[in-house]
Amino acid sequence: MRFVHERLPGRAVFGSGTFAQVPAEAEALGCARVLVIAGGSTAAIGSRLADAFGVRGAGHFDRVAQHVPESLVAEAREAVAYVRADGLCSVGGGSATGLAKAVAVERGLPIVAVPTTYAGSEATPVYGVTGERKRTGRNPMALPRTIVYDPTLTTGLPPRPTAASGFNALAHAVTALCAPAVDPTAGGPTAGGSTAGPHASAGGPPAGGPAARPNAPAGDPVAALYAEEAVRRLAGTLPTAVRQPDDLDARGELLYGAYLAASGLASVGTGLHHRLCHAVGGRCRLVHADVHALLLPYTVAADETLTAEGLRRLARALGADDPVAGLRALAGEVGLPDSLAAIGTPADELDTIAADAAAAVPDGHPRVGDQAWLRALLDDAYAGRASAGHEALTRRHDAEKGAR
Ligand code: NAD
Repeated sequence: MRFVHERLPGRAVFGSGTFAQVPAEAEALGCARVLVIAGGSTAAIGSRLADAFGVRGAGHFDRVAQHVPESLVAEAREAVAYVRADGLCSVGGGSATGLAKAVAVERGLPIVAVPTTYAGSEATPVYGVTGERKRTGRNPMALPRTIVYDPTLTTGLPPRPTAASGFNALAHAVTALCAPAVDPTAGGPTAGGSTAGPHASAGGPPAGGPAARPNAPAGDPVAALYAEEAVRRLAGTLPTAVRQPDDLDARGELLYGAYLAASGLASVGTGLHHRLCHAVGGRCRLVHADVHALLLPYTVAADETLTAEGLRRLARALGADDPVAGLRALAGEVGLPDSLAAIGTPADELDTIAADAAAAVPDGHPRVGDQAWLRALLDDAYAGRASAGHEALTRRHDAEKGAR
């Protein structure tokens, strides 16, 4: 066996009612003045938490925005200095967690993260800040030291964002399950500000592409274990959580699935799917989770570097014959839109997005710089039609079935 798995430190506390333990968890990290970061729909919970901190509280920063604008990081950094905070506690989705991460990296502070969506950011050392463009980095200080997963905080997440966020978690799992192997002799760890995880920095598939090794084993078998279980939990429970938002068992399963998926992704690093989502979402300021949900079936169909074994395991965990059909069926069942047009992508931006995406494709991927290929993928996704990539994938699967 030849593989690299990056095991990350951290503590995760799961269970209904665990929110009450957050002050004790921060104290266990040695924090004496904790600034709570929570805005938007979770601002009220953040305010309650700031009160619960009592003398160990350093206030509540209640402005949070998607994609973590630079200006907000500067404001939060000033707030941290002003109140002399020695720890951060984020309550919310990936936007609240992301703001805490950006500040933690700059100020060297520990984070207790309390996630209320399935974005999974709390389980990765990757953070992003948006100025003119979104920049991402990987830094051990960005990884929350403790995560508190309390499903009672998530019952207010409406069905549509629940479905989309669940697909964001599925996208993490798909990457962790299907990414190709990296060469363990190819380079050192990516911690310390690199913009790419091992998947992206691996130099892509060997000459000849995945067709030359259709049965390649999981690139990171440990991450794949997490990821396959994540798909099972997420796909098995998402329809229930969408139908019955206050089902605490379903909400707990989704948080667990999101944690497993992001933990797998943290080791493997992002690939084509994430890079494309950032190009689409960043350019058009679309809802992050919507973009992941919409593009996932297209990127799974089209990305030739995903391993055949990973795709087989993905189909199995989805309970489907074909992974793309399985993802599409689940998206339909939970009421997600089926085209980039339906989530508000302007048609006249597709060329620019394809150019951004071509520049963002991971080094060594066979589609680096292939703007025409990316534009065709985007056109399919824009119109909501099954792609040529899917036909190719189906043919490959049929041929493999025939051969078995
Ligand atoms: P978000 O944090 O912006 O939340 C989406 C909306 O849901 C917001 O309006 C929020 O107020 C609301 N909300 C959150 N929890 C709620 C709850 N329990 N009840 C009711 N409303 C609630 O979106 P997101 O999808 O969670 O995160 C997206 C951001 O996270 C993006 O910026 C993305 O780049 C980042 N992200 C980073 C990583 C990483 O590893 N670094 C991974 C995934 C996402």
